[in-house]
Amino acid sequence: MHNESVQALAGALAQGTVSSVELTELFLARIAAEKDLNAFISVDPEVSLAQARAADRIRAAGRATPLTGIPIAHKDIFVTREFRSTAGSRMLENYRSPFDATVVEKLGLGPQGAGMVTLGKANCDEFAMGSSNENSFFGPVKNPWDRRAISGGTSGGSAALVAARLAPAATGTDTGGSIRQPAAMCGVTGIKPTYGRVSRWGMIAFASSLDQAGVLARSAADCALVLNFMAGFDPRDSTSIERVAEDYSRELALPLAGLRIGLPKEYYGEGVSPDVASAVEAALREYEKAGAKLVDIELPRTELSIPAYYVIAPAEASSNLSRFDGVRYGHRTAEYGDLLEMYERTRAEGFGWEVKRRILVGAYVLSHGYYDAYYLKAQRIRRLIAEDFQTAFRDCDVIATPVAPSVAWDIGEKVDDPVANYLADIFTLSVSLAGLPGLSLPCGFGRQGRPVGLQLIGNYFGEARLLGAAHQFQQASDWHMRAPTDLHGA
Ligand code: GLN
Repeated sequence: MHNESVQALAGALAQGTVSSVELTELFLARIAAEKDLNAFISVDPEVSLAQARAADRIRAAGRATPLTGIPIAHKDIFVTREFRSTAGSRMLENYRSPFDATVVEKLGLGPQGAGMVTLGKANCDEFAMGSSNENSFFGPVKNPWDRRAISGGTSGGSAALVAARLAPAATGTDTGGSIRQPAAMCGVTGIKPTYGRVSRWGMIAFASSLDQAGVLARSAADCALVLNFMAGFDPRDSTSIERVAEDYSRELALPLAGLRIGLPKEYYGEGVSPDVASAVEAALREYEKAGAKLVDIELPRTELSIPAYYVIAPAEASSNLSRFDGVRYGHRTAEYGDLLEMYERTRAEGFGWEVKRRILVGAYVLSHGYYDAYYLKAQRIRRLIAEDFQTAFRDCDVIATPVAPSVAWDIGEKVDDPVANYLADIFTLSVSLAGLPGLSLPCGFGRQGRPVGLQLIGNYFGEARLLGAAHQFQQASDWHMRAPTDLHGA
Protein backbone atom coordinates (compact mmCIF):
# COMPACT_ATOMS: atom_id res chain seq x y z
CA MET A 1 0.00 0.00 0.00
CA HIS A 2 2.81 2.45 0.84
CA ASN A 3 4.08 2.24 -2.74
CA GLU A 4 0.76 3.29 -4.20
CA SER A 5 0.20 6.63 -5.86
CA VAL A 6 -2.16 9.30 -4.55
CA GLN A 7 -4.43 8.35 -7.41
CA ALA A 8 -4.45 4.65 -6.49
CA LEU A 9 -5.03 5.40 -2.81
CA ALA A 10 -7.94 7.64 -3.76
CA GLY A 11 -9.41 4.70 -5.67
CA ALA A 12 -8.93 2.31 -2.77
CA LEU A 13 -10.59 4.73 -0.35
CA ALA A 14 -13.48 5.30 -2.72
CA GLN A 15 -14.04 1.56 -3.07
CA GLY A 16 -13.78 1.01 0.65
CA THR A 17 -10.91 -1.49 0.40
CA VAL A 18 -9.01 0.62 2.92
CA SER A 19 -9.95 3.28 5.46
CA SER A 20 -8.15 6.52 6.19
CA VAL A 21 -7.41 5.26 9.71
CA GLU A 22 -5.71 2.17 8.27
CA LEU A 23 -3.66 4.24 5.82
CA THR A 24 -2.69 6.72 8.51
CA GLU A 25 -1.60 3.92 10.86
CA LEU A 26 0.47 2.37 8.09
CA PHE A 27 2.33 5.59 7.28
CA LEU A 28 2.80 6.52 10.96
CA ALA A 29 4.43 3.12 11.53
CA ARG A 30 6.77 3.73 8.60
CA ILE A 31 7.63 7.21 9.89
CA ALA A 32 8.51 5.72 13.29
CA ALA A 33 10.68 3.06 11.66
CA GLU A 34 12.51 5.69 9.57
CA LYS A 35 13.34 8.14 12.35
CA ASP A 36 16.96 7.92 11.30
CA LEU A 37 16.24 9.92 8.12
CA ASN A 38 15.21 12.90 10.28
CA ALA A 39 12.62 13.86 7.67
CA PHE A 40 10.09 15.06 10.24
CA ILE A 41 10.34 17.76 12.89
CA SER A 42 6.97 16.97 14.48
CA VAL A 43 4.65 13.98 14.43
CA ASP A 44 1.67 13.45 16.70
CA PRO A 45 -0.13 10.15 16.05
CA GLU A 46 -3.12 11.15 18.16
CA VAL A 47 -3.74 14.27 16.09
CA SER A 48 -3.28 12.44 12.78
CA LEU A 49 -5.51 9.55 13.79
CA ALA A 50 -8.24 11.90 14.98
CA GLN A 51 -8.08 13.58 11.56
CA ALA A 52 -8.24 10.17 9.87
CA ARG A 53 -11.34 9.23 11.84
CA ALA A 54 -12.93 12.53 10.83
CA ALA A 55 -12.05 11.82 7.19
CA ASP A 56 -13.66 8.37 7.38
CA ARG A 57 -16.80 9.96 8.82
CA ILE A 58 -16.90 12.55 6.03
CA ARG A 59 -16.63 9.74 3.48
CA ALA A 60 -19.35 7.73 5.19
CA ALA A 61 -21.57 10.81 5.06
CA GLY A 62 -21.05 11.02 1.30
CA ARG A 63 -19.15 14.30 1.40
CA ALA A 64 -15.72 13.06 0.31
CA THR A 65 -13.52 14.75 -2.28
CA PRO A 66 -11.16 12.50 -4.28
CA LEU A 67 -8.43 13.23 -1.71
CA THR A 68 -10.42 12.78 1.50
CA GLY A 69 -8.53 10.56 3.92
CA ILE A 70 -5.22 10.52 2.04
CA PRO A 71 -2.26 11.30 4.30
CA ILE A 72 0.10 14.17 3.48
CA ALA A 73 3.00 15.89 5.25
CA HIS A 74 3.46 19.65 5.38
CA LYS A 75 6.79 21.42 5.22
CA ASP A 76 7.32 23.03 8.61
CA ILE A 77 7.19 26.47 7.03
CA PHE A 78 3.38 26.35 6.85
CA VAL A 79 1.72 27.27 10.11
CA THR A 80 -0.65 24.72 11.63
CA ARG A 81 -2.90 24.87 14.65
CA GLU A 82 -2.51 21.24 15.58
CA PHE A 83 1.29 20.90 15.29
CA ARG A 84 4.00 23.35 16.33
CA SER A 85 5.37 25.46 13.46
CA THR A 86 9.14 25.90 13.69
CA ALA A 87 10.44 26.92 10.24
CA GLY A 88 13.43 24.74 11.17
CA SER A 89 14.53 27.40 13.67
CA ARG A 90 15.31 27.52 17.35
CA MET A 91 13.51 30.87 17.26
CA LEU A 92 10.19 29.04 16.78
CA GLU A 93 11.09 25.77 18.49
CA ASN A 94 7.87 25.70 20.49
CA TYR A 95 5.71 28.05 18.47
CA ARG A 96 2.02 27.26 18.12
CA SER A 97 0.06 29.15 15.51
CA PRO A 98 -3.51 30.23 16.30
CA PHE A 99 -4.51 29.50 12.69
CA ASP A 100 -3.76 27.21 9.73
CA ALA A 101 -2.01 28.44 6.58
CA THR A 102 -4.31 28.68 3.56
CA VAL A 103 -2.54 25.71 1.96
CA VAL A 104 -3.11 23.61 5.08
CA GLU A 105 -6.73 24.72 5.24
CA LYS A 106 -7.39 23.99 1.56
CA LEU A 107 -5.91 20.49 1.81
CA GLY A 108 -7.29 19.79 5.27
CA LEU A 109 -10.49 18.68 6.94
CA GLY A 110 -12.38 21.96 7.22
CA PRO A 111 -15.70 22.49 5.44
CA GLN A 112 -14.03 23.75 2.21
CA GLY A 113 -10.98 21.48 2.45
CA ALA A 114 -9.86 18.48 0.41
CA GLY A 115 -10.02 16.30 3.52
CA MET A 116 -6.40 15.16 3.61
CA VAL A 117 -4.85 13.94 6.88
CA THR A 118 -1.72 15.65 8.20
CA LEU A 119 0.97 13.12 9.15
CA GLY A 120 3.30 15.72 10.60
CA LYS A 121 5.63 18.59 9.82
CA ALA A 122 8.55 18.01 7.49
CA ASN A 123 12.09 19.08 8.29
CA CYS A 124 13.51 22.02 6.32
CA ASP A 125 16.37 24.50 6.34
CA GLU A 126 15.97 27.31 8.84
CA PHE A 127 13.51 29.85 7.38
CA ALA A 128 13.96 28.03 4.05
CA MET A 129 17.51 29.29 3.60
CA GLY A 130 19.91 26.74 2.19
CA SER A 131 20.52 24.18 -0.51
CA SER A 132 21.20 21.04 1.48
CA ASN A 133 18.86 20.93 4.48
CA GLU A 134 21.89 21.18 6.76
CA ASN A 135 20.77 24.56 8.13
CA SER A 136 17.89 23.12 10.13
CA PHE A 137 18.10 23.62 13.89
CA PHE A 138 16.73 20.05 14.05
CA GLY A 139 19.65 18.59 12.11
CA PRO A 140 20.18 17.51 8.50
CA VAL A 141 17.81 15.21 6.61
CA LYS A 142 19.45 12.06 5.27
CA ASN A 143 18.91 11.05 1.67
CA PRO A 144 16.99 7.74 1.54
CA TRP A 145 19.03 6.65 -1.51
CA ASP A 146 22.31 7.02 0.34
CA ARG A 147 22.23 8.05 3.96
CA ARG A 148 25.64 9.71 3.72
CA ALA A 149 24.17 12.22 1.27
CA ILE A 150 22.20 15.42 1.76
CA SER A 151 18.53 15.39 0.82
CA GLY A 152 18.78 18.77 -0.90
CA GLY A 153 17.21 21.90 0.43
CA THR A 154 15.19 23.48 1.61
CA SER A 155 12.18 21.15 1.32
CA GLY A 156 14.56 18.27 2.10
CA GLY A 157 12.26 16.60 4.61
CA SER A 158 9.36 16.69 2.14
CA ALA A 159 11.46 15.16 -0.66
CA ALA A 160 13.06 12.49 1.54
CA LEU A 161 9.79 11.38 3.10
CA VAL A 162 8.09 11.02 -0.29
CA ALA A 163 11.09 9.04 -1.61
CA ALA A 164 11.06 6.79 1.48
CA ARG A 165 7.32 6.12 1.12
CA LEU A 166 6.49 7.78 4.45
CA ALA A 167 3.65 9.66 2.72
CA PRO A 168 2.38 9.66 -0.86
CA ALA A 169 2.80 13.46 -1.13
CA ALA A 170 4.11 16.47 0.76
CA THR A 171 3.88 20.22 0.48
CA GLY A 172 6.98 22.31 -0.08
CA THR A 173 8.00 25.87 -0.76
CA ASP A 174 10.41 27.21 -3.35
CA THR A 175 12.08 30.61 -3.23
CA GLY A 176 15.03 29.82 -5.44
CA GLY A 177 14.81 26.07 -6.00
CA SER A 178 13.69 24.56 -2.72
CA ILE A 179 11.10 22.22 -4.22
CA ARG A 180 12.90 21.34 -7.44
CA GLN A 181 16.38 20.74 -6.07
CA PRO A 182 15.50 18.33 -3.21
CA ALA A 183 12.98 16.60 -5.50
CA ALA A 184 15.83 15.97 -7.95
CA MET A 185 18.24 14.81 -5.28
CA CYS A 186 15.73 12.41 -3.72
CA GLY A 187 14.33 11.09 -7.01
CA VAL A 188 10.77 12.42 -6.69
CA THR A 189 8.60 14.79 -8.73
CA GLY A 190 8.00 18.36 -7.56
CA ILE A 191 6.40 21.45 -8.98
CA LYS A 192 6.76 25.12 -8.13
CA PRO A 193 3.82 26.90 -9.77
CA THR A 194 3.81 30.41 -11.22
CA TYR A 195 4.38 33.04 -8.52
CA GLY A 196 0.99 33.97 -7.06
CA ARG A 197 -0.80 30.73 -7.93
CA VAL A 198 -0.76 29.34 -4.40
CA SER A 199 -1.48 31.46 -1.35
CA ARG A 200 1.42 32.58 0.82
CA TRP A 201 -0.89 33.28 3.75
CA GLY A 202 0.46 31.36 6.73
CA MET A 203 3.69 30.47 4.96
CA ILE A 204 6.46 31.77 7.21
CA ALA A 205 8.01 34.43 4.97
CA PHE A 206 11.57 34.34 3.67
CA ALA A 207 11.62 36.47 0.50
CA SER A 208 8.07 37.53 -0.24
CA SER A 209 8.52 38.38 -3.93
CA LEU A 210 9.94 34.91 -4.61
CA ASP A 211 8.32 32.49 -2.11
CA GLN A 212 5.88 30.09 -3.70
CA ALA A 213 4.30 26.90 -2.39
CA GLY A 214 4.02 23.71 -4.36
CA VAL A 215 3.86 19.96 -4.03
CA LEU A 216 6.15 16.95 -4.11
CA ALA A 217 4.88 13.48 -4.96
CA ARG A 218 6.17 10.50 -6.87
CA SER A 219 4.55 11.36 -10.20
CA ALA A 220 3.39 14.38 -12.15
CA ALA A 221 -0.15 13.00 -12.20
CA ASP A 222 -0.19 12.96 -8.38
CA CYS A 223 1.24 16.49 -8.22
CA ALA A 224 -1.58 17.68 -10.49
CA LEU A 225 -4.23 16.07 -8.26
CA VAL A 226 -2.95 17.77 -5.12
CA LEU A 227 -2.32 21.09 -6.85
CA ASN A 228 -5.96 21.16 -7.93
CA PHE A 229 -6.91 21.56 -4.27
CA MET A 230 -3.96 23.71 -3.17
CA ALA A 231 -3.94 26.48 -5.73
CA GLY A 232 -6.33 29.37 -6.17
CA PHE A 233 -6.97 32.99 -5.35
CA ASP A 234 -6.77 34.00 -1.71
CA PRO A 235 -7.90 37.51 -0.75
CA ARG A 236 -5.71 37.27 2.37
CA ASP A 237 -2.54 37.25 0.23
CA SER A 238 -2.08 40.52 -1.64
CA THR A 239 0.14 38.87 -4.28
CA SER A 240 -2.28 36.03 -4.92
CA ILE A 241 -3.43 36.01 -8.54
CA GLU A 242 -7.12 36.21 -9.28
CA ARG A 243 -7.85 33.72 -12.05
CA VAL A 244 -10.57 31.16 -12.53
CA ALA A 245 -9.80 27.77 -11.02
CA GLU A 246 -8.33 25.34 -13.49
CA ASP A 247 -7.79 21.61 -13.73
CA TYR A 248 -4.06 20.95 -13.63
CA SER A 249 -4.65 17.39 -14.88
CA ARG A 250 -6.24 18.52 -18.11
CA GLU A 251 -3.16 18.14 -20.31
CA LEU A 252 -1.84 14.88 -18.86
CA ALA A 253 -2.99 12.87 -21.85
CA LEU A 254 -1.67 15.32 -24.44
CA PRO A 255 0.88 13.57 -26.68
CA LEU A 256 4.41 14.96 -26.92
CA ALA A 257 4.39 15.07 -30.71
CA GLY A 258 5.12 18.60 -31.86
CA LEU A 259 6.10 19.91 -28.41
CA ARG A 260 8.99 22.33 -28.84
CA ILE A 261 11.51 21.87 -26.04
CA GLY A 262 14.06 24.66 -25.67
CA LEU A 263 17.58 23.79 -24.57
CA PRO A 264 19.41 26.85 -23.26
CA LYS A 265 23.06 26.47 -24.13
CA GLU A 266 24.11 28.14 -20.87
CA TYR A 267 22.71 25.15 -18.94
CA TYR A 268 24.64 22.48 -20.77
CA GLY A 269 28.20 23.68 -20.40
CA GLU A 270 31.21 22.76 -18.33
CA GLY A 271 29.51 23.45 -15.02
CA VAL A 272 27.42 20.28 -15.23
CA SER A 273 28.99 17.09 -13.90
CA PRO A 274 29.21 14.27 -16.47
CA ASP A 275 26.83 11.88 -14.67
CA VAL A 276 24.09 14.53 -14.53
CA ALA A 277 24.71 15.54 -18.16
CA SER A 278 24.38 12.00 -19.46
CA ALA A 279 21.15 11.25 -17.55
CA VAL A 280 19.62 14.52 -18.75
CA GLU A 281 20.71 13.88 -22.33
CA ALA A 282 19.20 10.38 -22.27
CA ALA A 283 15.91 11.87 -21.08
CA LEU A 284 15.98 14.41 -23.91
CA ARG A 285 16.47 11.58 -26.41
CA GLU A 286 13.34 9.94 -24.99
CA TYR A 287 11.40 13.14 -25.54
CA GLU A 288 12.72 13.31 -29.09
CA LYS A 289 11.68 9.70 -29.71
CA ALA A 290 8.17 10.55 -28.56
CA GLY A 291 7.96 13.27 -31.18
CA ALA A 292 9.07 16.37 -29.31
CA LYS A 293 11.31 18.81 -31.14
CA LEU A 294 14.50 19.96 -29.43
CA VAL A 295 15.43 23.55 -30.23
CA ASP A 296 18.50 25.52 -29.19
CA ILE A 297 17.77 28.68 -27.24
CA GLU A 298 19.74 31.19 -25.19
CA LEU A 299 19.29 32.52 -21.68
CA PRO A 300 22.31 34.78 -21.66
CA ARG A 301 21.83 36.27 -18.21
CA THR A 302 21.73 32.94 -16.34
CA GLU A 303 25.04 33.54 -14.57
CA LEU A 304 23.78 36.80 -13.11
CA SER A 305 20.92 35.04 -11.36
CA ILE A 306 23.20 34.07 -8.46
CA PRO A 307 24.40 37.58 -7.55
CA ALA A 308 20.95 39.07 -8.22
CA TYR A 309 19.13 36.47 -6.12
CA TYR A 310 21.64 36.62 -3.28
CA VAL A 311 21.03 40.38 -3.03
CA ILE A 312 17.23 40.40 -3.41
CA ALA A 313 16.41 37.38 -1.23
CA PRO A 314 18.54 38.50 1.76
CA ALA A 315 17.14 42.05 1.44
CA GLU A 316 13.60 40.77 1.76
CA ALA A 317 14.61 38.30 4.46
CA SER A 318 16.22 41.01 6.60
CA SER A 319 12.91 42.83 6.57
CA ASN A 320 10.68 39.76 7.06
CA LEU A 321 12.75 38.41 9.93
CA SER A 322 12.67 41.63 11.91
CA ARG A 323 9.42 40.42 13.46
CA PHE A 324 11.33 37.79 15.46
CA ASP A 325 12.39 40.02 18.31
CA GLY A 326 11.46 38.07 21.42
CA VAL A 327 8.32 40.13 21.95
CA ARG A 328 5.73 38.79 19.57
CA TYR A 329 6.72 35.24 18.66
CA GLY A 330 8.80 32.37 19.84
CA HIS A 331 12.10 32.37 21.66
CA ARG A 332 13.04 34.99 24.24
CA THR A 333 16.40 35.02 26.00
CA ALA A 334 16.32 34.07 29.69
CA GLU A 335 18.42 36.90 31.07
CA TYR A 336 18.72 40.50 29.97
CA GLY A 337 19.16 43.97 31.37
CA ASP A 338 17.23 46.31 29.11
CA LEU A 339 15.04 46.00 26.01
CA LEU A 340 17.91 46.37 23.55
CA GLU A 341 19.86 43.61 25.23
CA MET A 342 16.75 41.44 25.15
CA TYR A 343 16.50 41.88 21.35
CA GLU A 344 20.19 41.23 20.84
CA ARG A 345 20.43 38.13 22.96
CA THR A 346 17.15 36.70 21.68
CA ARG A 347 18.21 37.04 18.05
CA ALA A 348 21.77 35.87 18.77
CA GLU A 349 20.43 32.70 20.39
CA GLY A 350 17.42 32.10 18.16
CA PHE A 351 18.95 32.35 14.68
CA GLY A 352 21.53 30.07 13.10
CA TRP A 353 24.59 31.22 11.17
CA GLU A 354 23.10 31.19 7.66
CA VAL A 355 20.10 33.22 8.77
CA LYS A 356 22.37 35.76 10.48
CA ARG A 357 24.50 35.99 7.35
CA ARG A 358 21.42 36.74 5.24
CA ILE A 359 20.15 39.38 7.66
CA LEU A 360 23.53 41.12 7.60
CA VAL A 361 23.81 41.00 3.81
CA GLY A 362 20.22 42.16 3.45
CA ALA A 363 20.57 45.07 5.84
CA TYR A 364 23.79 46.09 4.07
CA VAL A 365 22.38 46.10 0.52
CA LEU A 366 19.34 48.07 1.65
CA SER A 367 21.29 50.67 3.56
CA HIS A 368 21.70 54.28 2.52
CA GLY A 369 24.48 54.66 -0.01
CA TYR A 370 24.43 51.00 -1.09
CA TYR A 371 20.80 50.68 -2.11
CA ASP A 372 21.34 51.92 -5.68
CA ALA A 373 24.57 50.04 -6.16
CA TYR A 374 23.26 46.65 -5.04
CA TYR A 375 19.54 46.34 -4.50
CA LEU A 376 18.34 48.47 -7.41
CA LYS A 377 20.90 46.95 -9.75
CA ALA A 378 19.81 43.46 -8.73
CA GLN A 379 16.19 44.38 -9.47
CA ARG A 380 17.19 45.58 -12.94
CA ILE A 381 18.99 42.32 -13.61
CA ARG A 382 15.93 40.47 -12.42
CA ARG A 383 13.85 42.23 -15.06
CA LEU A 384 16.37 41.35 -17.78
CA ILE A 385 16.37 37.70 -16.74
CA ALA A 386 12.57 37.63 -17.00
CA GLU A 387 12.76 39.24 -20.45
CA ASP A 388 15.25 36.65 -21.65
CA PHE A 389 12.72 33.94 -20.86
CA GLN A 390 10.03 35.73 -22.86
CA THR A 391 12.37 35.93 -25.85
CA ALA A 392 13.14 32.23 -25.48
CA PHE A 393 9.47 31.25 -25.30
CA ARG A 394 8.94 32.63 -28.80
CA ASP A 395 10.81 29.58 -30.07
CA CYS A 396 9.70 26.88 -27.65
CA ASP A 397 6.80 25.71 -25.48
CA VAL A 398 8.80 24.44 -22.53
CA ILE A 399 12.46 24.64 -21.53
CA ALA A 400 14.40 21.60 -20.32
CA THR A 401 17.55 21.79 -18.18
CA PRO A 402 19.32 19.91 -15.41
CA VAL A 403 17.93 20.82 -11.96
CA ALA A 404 21.32 21.04 -10.29
CA PRO A 405 24.91 20.80 -11.54
CA SER A 406 25.59 17.63 -9.52
CA VAL A 407 23.86 14.83 -7.66
CA ALA A 408 23.52 15.13 -3.87
CA TRP A 409 26.84 15.71 -2.15
CA ASP A 410 27.88 14.26 1.20
CA ILE A 411 26.49 15.66 4.44
CA GLY A 412 29.15 18.00 5.81
CA GLU A 413 31.02 18.35 2.52
CA LYS A 414 30.11 22.01 1.89
CA VAL A 415 28.99 23.25 5.29
CA ASP A 416 31.89 25.64 5.71
CA ASP A 417 31.48 27.17 2.28
CA PRO A 418 28.25 29.14 1.82
CA VAL A 419 29.22 30.24 -1.69
CA ALA A 420 29.61 26.62 -2.82
CA ASN A 421 26.02 26.09 -1.68
CA TYR A 422 24.85 29.22 -3.51
CA LEU A 423 26.50 28.06 -6.75
CA ALA A 424 24.52 24.82 -6.63
CA ASP A 425 21.37 26.93 -7.24
CA ILE A 426 22.52 28.14 -10.66
CA PHE A 427 19.81 26.29 -12.63
CA THR A 428 16.84 27.03 -10.40
CA LEU A 429 17.22 30.67 -9.31
CA SER A 430 16.40 32.38 -12.61
CA VAL A 431 13.00 30.62 -12.80
CA SER A 432 12.15 32.04 -9.37
CA LEU A 433 13.42 35.52 -10.22
CA ALA A 434 11.18 35.50 -13.30
CA GLY A 435 8.22 34.05 -11.34
CA LEU A 436 7.81 31.18 -13.80
CA PRO A 437 6.58 27.66 -13.06
CA GLY A 438 9.22 24.93 -12.81
CA LEU A 439 8.99 21.19 -12.38
CA SER A 440 11.57 18.58 -11.47
CA LEU A 441 11.19 14.94 -12.47
CA PRO A 442 13.47 11.96 -11.90
CA CYS A 443 15.43 10.99 -15.02
CA GLY A 444 18.11 8.57 -13.88
CA PHE A 445 20.95 8.03 -11.47
CA GLY A 446 24.46 9.40 -11.27
CA ARG A 447 27.53 8.98 -9.12
CA GLN A 448 27.09 6.47 -6.23
CA GLY A 449 23.55 5.66 -7.35
CA ARG A 450 22.25 9.11 -6.41
CA PRO A 451 19.20 10.42 -8.34
CA VAL A 452 19.29 12.99 -11.15
CA GLY A 453 16.43 15.37 -11.97
CA LEU A 454 15.30 17.00 -15.18
CA GLN A 455 13.87 20.51 -14.87
CA LEU A 456 10.99 21.59 -17.11
CA ILE A 457 10.29 25.32 -17.16
CA GLY A 458 7.05 26.75 -18.50
CA ASN A 459 5.74 30.17 -19.33
CA TYR A 460 3.43 31.94 -16.85
CA PHE A 461 0.41 29.78 -15.92
CA GLY A 462 1.81 26.90 -17.97
CA GLU A 463 1.63 24.35 -15.13
CA ALA A 464 -0.80 22.03 -16.91
CA ARG A 465 1.54 21.88 -19.90
CA LEU A 466 4.54 21.09 -17.69
CA LEU A 467 2.68 18.39 -15.78
CA GLY A 468 1.50 16.90 -19.09
CA ALA A 469 5.01 16.86 -20.54
CA ALA A 470 6.31 15.20 -17.36
CA HIS A 471 3.46 12.69 -17.24
CA GLN A 472 4.05 11.56 -20.83
CA PHE A 473 7.69 10.92 -19.99
CA GLN A 474 6.64 8.98 -16.88
CA GLN A 475 4.24 6.87 -18.95
CA ALA A 476 7.19 5.75 -21.05
CA SER A 477 9.82 5.34 -18.29
CA ASP A 478 10.00 4.04 -14.75
CA TRP A 479 12.56 6.28 -13.02
CA HIS A 480 9.80 7.73 -10.86
CA MET A 481 8.70 4.24 -9.76
CA ARG A 482 12.11 3.24 -8.38
CA ALA A 483 12.37 3.03 -4.61
CA PRO A 484 15.45 3.18 -2.38
CA THR A 485 16.42 -0.34 -1.35
CA ASP A 486 17.52 -0.02 2.26
CA LEU A 487 14.31 1.27 3.77
CA HIS A 488 13.33 0.06 7.22
CA GLY A 489 9.75 -0.33 8.28
CA ALA A 490 6.66 -2.12 7.13
N1 GLN B 1 19.04 27.81 -2.00
C1 GLN B 1 18.32 29.05 -2.06
C2 GLN B 1 18.57 29.84 -0.81
O1 GLN B 1 19.31 29.41 0.01
C3 GLN B 1 16.86 28.80 -2.28
C4 GLN B 1 16.13 28.37 -1.06
C5 GLN B 1 14.65 28.29 -1.28
O2 GLN B 1 14.18 28.11 -2.40
N2 GLN B 1 13.91 28.48 -0.21
O3 GLN B 1 18.05 30.90 -0.62
